[in-house]
Amino acid sequence: MNYSEDELLPISALADIVFCERRAALHRLEEIWQESVSTIEGHLLHDKVHTGEGESRGEVRIARGLRLRSLRLGLSGVADVFEFHRLEEGMEGIVLPGVSGRWIPFPVEYKRGVVRHEESFECQLCAQALCLEEMLNCHIPAGALFYGLSRRRKDILLTNELRHVTEEAAVRLHQVVNAGVTPPAHYEKKCKKCSLLAQCMPQLAGKHDSVRDYLGRTLKSLIREEYATSSRPNAVTCR
Ligand code: SF4
Repeated sequence: MNYSEDELLPISALADIVFCERRAALHRLEEIWQESVSTIEGHLLHDKVHTGEGESRGEVRIARGLRLRSLRLGLSGVADVFEFHRLEEGMEGIVLPGVSGRWIPFPVEYKRGVVRHEESFECQLCAQALCLEEMLNCHIPAGALFYGLSRRRKDILLTNELRHVTEEAAVRLHQVVNAGVTPPAHYEKKCKKCSLLAQCMPQLAGKHDSVRDYLGRTLKSLIREEYATSSRPNAVTCR
């Protein structure tokens, strides 16, 4: 079964759900966003990449800000960079308009910081490849993550295992959004680097609370306390 255009969810939300289901729900269901120095740096890096022109470097053509979508996975988004590498004669690949030969697409996703292993980044990259594979009816075997601070690129093989994890994450993302229920908080090591830490309150929110539930309960208890204080008889009552 394919999704309709109206049901498409952002590829960035897929990265969220791989990192933490609650984070994806806080963004998509509770519309809680929090900018931090790192998220702003990330936006600036992506803006810079997207506004660059397409270019040619030897046997590589570079497209920036390519719009992507997959009706099969129910995802859409914009790729930072798609390189197209020229293939040797006789090899299977796609045709590019106005250029001779056969080409193979190679997605490159820009990230801030230094080279590291983040499954959510790899799934995001893989989702971009899966979208373009569906759009162009082709196979994309690999891509790369480019880390802005260290200016280093890490090649990622789009293995069957990574494809499977990515497809499962897309299904889960739609399930969480359709269910409309924010999963409970579990405080883990990764929470320390989550930009929603202050809003999520994983150590306080309790096992079954959404942030709204928690804030609502806290507010009710404050009102109760205030009412109890104001209705308490004074030490001296004038009649
Ligand atoms: S703070 Fe932790 S539990 Fe809360 S959204 Fe972030 S990663 Fe998830």
